[in-house]
Amino acid sequence: METIIHRLDVNRINKEVINEASEILKKGGLVAFPTETVYGLGADALNEKASSDIYRAKGRPSDNPLIVHISNKEQLYKLVKEIPHNAELLMDNFWPGPLTMIFKKSEIVPDGTTGGLDTVAVRMPNHPVALNLIDSSGIVIAAPSANTSGRPSPTSSAHVEEDLCGKIDMILDGGDVGIGIESTIVDMTSDIPVILRPGYITKEMLEDVLGNVDIDKAVMNPLSENVRPKAPGMKYRHYAPKAELIIFNGKMNDVIRRINEETDECISKGKCVGIIASEETKDKYKAGMVLDIGTRQDEDMIAHNLYGVLREFDAANVDVIYGETFKESGFGQAIMNRLLKAAGYHVEDV
Ligand code: AMP
Ligand code: MG
Repeated sequence: METIIHRLDVNRINKEVINEASEILKKGGLVAFPTETVYGLGADALNEKASSDIYRAKGRPSDNPLIVHISNKEQLYKLVKEIPHNAELLMDNFWPGPLTMIFKKSEIVPDGTTGGLDTVAVRMPNHPVALNLIDSSGIVIAAPSANTSGRPSPTSSAHVEEDLCGKIDMILDGGDVGIGIESTIVDMTSDIPVILRPGYITKEMLEDVLGNVDIDKAVMNPLSENVRPKAPGMKYRHYAPKAELIIFNGKMNDVIRRINEETDECISKGKCVGIIASEETKDKYKAGMVLDIGTRQDEDMIAHNLYGVLREFDAANVDVIYGETFKESGFGQAIMNRLLKAAGYHVEDV
């Protein structure tokens, strides 16, 4: 299949391109598009065949449900059985934006979109290309991240091309995304809402609106064998580079010394080493491929750079990656959640 790639100026969106993409979606095709979090791979959420093509293109396990993207509240009423009052409050505060909510699904949402669950995940993205595409197609768009399943999520159109060129109908290139990690997911079907995946909208931000909010155990801990996580996606090694990633945790000077030692040893065996460093520490690493993920003072920057850095190590074919830890409060929780999952929870205390 030939993949058509269109570059879009987000300040002056070319309507003809959006119409062409809309026609593809209406016929059941696949279109990748930018959102403010990461690039999504879109298809008609109410067309079971179209949704199943998303799984095929990504190589995604079929029990890992898709997030349905909408551009106005009326679309939500058709997708869900009921809207709890708490969800109304979160919508008023955070939509459009990087917040996905889980609701009991209505009959019109096919099992193929929800991985057989009786709930559906819905988000109103805050990106002009995404909103224009949903509006002009009149379609609610099922869209997981537009990467090959398991790989780091795409934060640029080049990342999407790398993974999906030849497998999907179109890529809308709207430049680099803003946030760089996936939306916060909150389950609204229980009395106390539960965070299933942390993101830019933090626990504190949700609690400011709702009071009490819980966080699922699977967020920062490895799952034991027989536990089924509430967000099926959380059980897979995820967001991961090809090479083994090991995170070192401890006082910064000890971490740097240990990473330098491990790096020397690996290099002496003829291996290539990647190091995830911060602006504050990058000059302290003596060998290996050192990538600066950004300053520790700016979590937005670290999140924005994370997946790009992991993909750079992939492109360089390093054998192993060593990383520092980052603080786990606020937005840092989302950053550490992705790093831990990418490392398969391989953390060494120093
Ligand atoms: P992605 O769009 O690639 O970031 O993946 C979507 C994430 O949303 C996965 O982790 C899914 O497990 C989660 N998800 C989607 N629908 C549901 C649902 N109905 N219940 C729980 N988690 C969901
Ligand atoms: Mg994904």
